[in-house]
Amino acid sequence: MLYQRSSSLFKEAEKVIPGGVNSPVRAFGAVGGTPIFAKSAKGAYIQDEDGNQYIDYINSWGPMILGHAFEPVVNAVIEKAKQGTSFGMPTAIETEIAQLATSMVPNIDKIRFVNSGTEACMSAVRLARGYTKKDKIIKFAGCYHGHSDSFLIAAGSGAITFGTPNSPGVTQGTAKDTLLATYNDIVNVRQLLEANKGEIACIIIEPVAGNMGCIPPKNDFLKKLRAVCDEHDVLLIFDEVMTGFRLAPGGAQELYNVDADIVCFGKVIGGGLPVGAFAARNDIMDYLAPNGPVYQAGTLSGNPLAMAAGLAMLQHLDKDRTVFTRLAEKTEYLHKGIATALQANNIEHTINRMGSMISIHFEAHEVVDFETAAKANNERFKRFFHGMLKEGIYIAPSAFETWFISDALSYEDLDATIAAVDTVCKTL
Ligand SMILES: *Cc1c(COP(=O)(O)O)cnc(C)c1O
Repeated sequence: MLYQRSSSLFKEAEKVIPGGVNSPVRAFGAVGGTPIFAKSAKGAYIQDEDGNQYIDYINSWGPMILGHAFEPVVNAVIEKAKQGTSFGMPTAIETEIAQLATSMVPNIDKIRFVNSGTEACMSAVRLARGYTKKDKIIKFAGCYHGHSDSFLIAAGSGAITFGTPNSPGVTQGTAKDTLLATYNDIVNVRQLLEANKGEIACIIIEPVAGNMGCIPPKNDFLKKLRAVCDEHDVLLIFDEVMTGFRLAPGGAQELYNVDADIVCFGKVIGGGLPVGAFAARNDIMDYLAPNGPVYQAGTLSGNPLAMAAGLAMLQHLDKDRTVFTRLAEKTEYLHKGIATALQANNIEHTINRMGSMISIHFEAHEVVDFETAAKANNERFKRFFHGMLKEGIYIAPSAFETWFISDALSYEDLDATIAAVDTVCKTL
């Protein structure tokens, strides 16, 4: 494959955009080479500026769960745009999507829309601090909750990929209020709660981690977390930016039958437009301005185009709930095929999967937390990534990311992907 036009576009971009990209993980820093510039996409396929085509396993990092340029979403945006793109006044469609979202997700009464997952998590933590009148939070090493200051402490995703989990610019004062726990280790969480009795506002977690590769919770970890939070009067925040409307209509809360106190959304809820949201019971949500004292706002929050895209997406997922089973089946099929190819070629690996999230770690031992994820063979991943790209398969350019399966993928696409893994294995 030739990447001439992508290369020259990247050179131009680097002159005027830091690193040539508007989000670091797009830069191929972890795998080497220059990023590919996307031109268009439809269904399971993405076309680049050089005319190459790929089967897409990133799906815009999650939102395109039904495939690219999904017609009901595209049409909803076009129709809305003709009526004006933003008003700074309430609109009926905001209530419509709020009604639908609160009906699909268990245990939430009210939802506030923002513009990104980062904003959702940042606001959820402020709300938790305001509501509990406590300052400290617990997050898990390797979990990513967006790029706001409190979370850039051993964060996952691009923050690990580039080896800077603790970013300059985050003050000591902020960092000291974020305590770090080990994913899947309830004893560790208990110790932190005991050592900081009465000071913890909330625990925030990716209920299925997706930003250190895919790491599902083990041995009723989420149920145990719920119990220790109740014991210590601490709010439990599920960051469902990745898992919400993906693992089940009601996300991880529904899948694992565990109630969170505050839930954060992003990605799928915006249907590919910039949307985030956070939601909770009435007593917590009524603590937000204008009803309550915790301030949170946004000029473009609840933007009509974004709401139209999100509503069309959620309506579709709500109407055709078989999509979630179908996605899990496709992912299982892919898992089995890839595992067989890796085994046949004697490549040490661990594959983690939950619903339509899956990742390969080039590591023989079980991957259950950040430490075990970080042990995997990163050099091998780099070769795997570039090999797959050459075969026309686009996966995330970092070992610390999950693959996102979309319903647009056919079994022929999955077979082609498995065959590509087999070919690439021979070069590892
Ligand atoms: C992507 C992601 C975020 C951040 O969302 P942005 O829209 O990129 O700000 C937060 N939490 C999780 C779990 C995510 O996967």
